[in-house]
Amino acid sequence: MICRGCASSDTVRVLDLGRTPAADYFPPHRSIVDPAESAHPLAMELCRRCGLAQLAGDDTTPEEPRGVEPQALRDQAAAAVEAVAESGFLNGDSVIEFGSPHGGSWLPLLGERGFRPPLPGHPASVVLDCFGAMHEPDQQAVFRERACATHVDGVLLIQFHSLAAIVTHGQWNALRHGHCAYYSLTALQQMLTDVGMSLSYAWEFDLYGGTVLVAARHGVRSDTSHTVRRILAAEHALGVCEPRTIRHLQQAADGHVSSLRTWLATMAGRGKRVYAYGAASRAVALFSRAGVDHRVLCAVADASRAKQGRRMPGTDVPIISPAQLLADDPDVVLLTVADLLPEVQSQFPGLTGKWVVDIADGDGPNADPALTHGRQQPGWNKLRTYPAV
Ligand SMILES: [Zn+2]
Repeated sequence: MICRGCASSDTVRVLDLGRTPAADYFPPHRSIVDPAESAHPLAMELCRRCGLAQLAGDDTTPEEPRGVEPQALRDQAAAAVEAVAESGFLNGDSVIEFGSPHGGSWLPLLGERGFRPPLPGHPASVVLDCFGAMHEPDQQAVFRERACATHVDGVLLIQFHSLAAIVTHGQWNALRHGHCAYYSLTALQQMLTDVGMSLSYAWEFDLYGGTVLVAARHGVRSDTSHTVRRILAAEHALGVCEPRTIRHLQQAADGHVSSLRTWLATMAGRGKRVYAYGAASRAVALFSRAGVDHRVLCAVADASRAKQGRRMPGTDVPIISPAQLLADDPDVVLLTVADLLPEVQSQFPGLTGKWVVDIADGDGPNADPALTHGRQQPGWNKLRTYPAV
């Protein structure tokens, strides 16, 4: 393929999930499970020239987002804006945001600090991109556009789920249709250089197992922060731009799918009624690859009303409301998004002791402490260890 970041044709396949359902199309509950529904190729390519990991192709049509913004994301946004302000990067008075189709905006937080949209056609002193850029098929255009929107003395803030974290934690199901780019700081630095910008500062957050927020400014600069240099060095040590490093995700995918299948079969064999919480896009490829059906997984609960009454793509597993989940009194609840745990634990005290968190094992290559974050929390089991129930 032609690289989305630098137009080189020197790309190599690093993860191939075969044919999967589109991650954002949830068919009505009682509809027939049509094989065509699960026939969309899903693969990741790595560019050997610029190092950008990217979606190979995408024959799906984006659907109207149906998700609910988790509290974890809102909390992180507040923490991020606070950190940026403390480091002295919130100067000027105008702001432009390139949003994510999944929703969530930092504009209210900037508004509280006196930032307003600039006059139409004018650049802003602060330009925000929180999980937005990754959705654009043309990555060269993305960075040109954001550079243009940033005032000559302004700052461009880009937040992304780090490829180093994806690889280190074996988060193979970060790969999904509609997500065109998977950034390392190394590849991001190259794309910013291509549009005349450079990295000034970076902040790290535990969100999704490793989220990075960077501040970029126009020109070639010598004031690159220690954090930027440290992350780049850790990525280099990990080999984040090398195909053999990213290929560990293939083993992670195959291992994850087979552990889920085994665990669900074991639970069903013991007569346990297993439910899941979170009809998240990342659960779509997992459930469909594992061949999950309603005999081993009764239902998936989700807070989004738009998903309730539908089913998980490629499976006959219905999506129900959290109230229905409580009424059904499940034996075990598999949480598909680990970041939701504190939220669901406090929201549903009746489910205490029933949570099993589906989390990648951190069994990637060279699990560098600089790139991994403490993930294990007391009070729950992770799926990969086959918890006894
Ligand atoms: Zn490239």
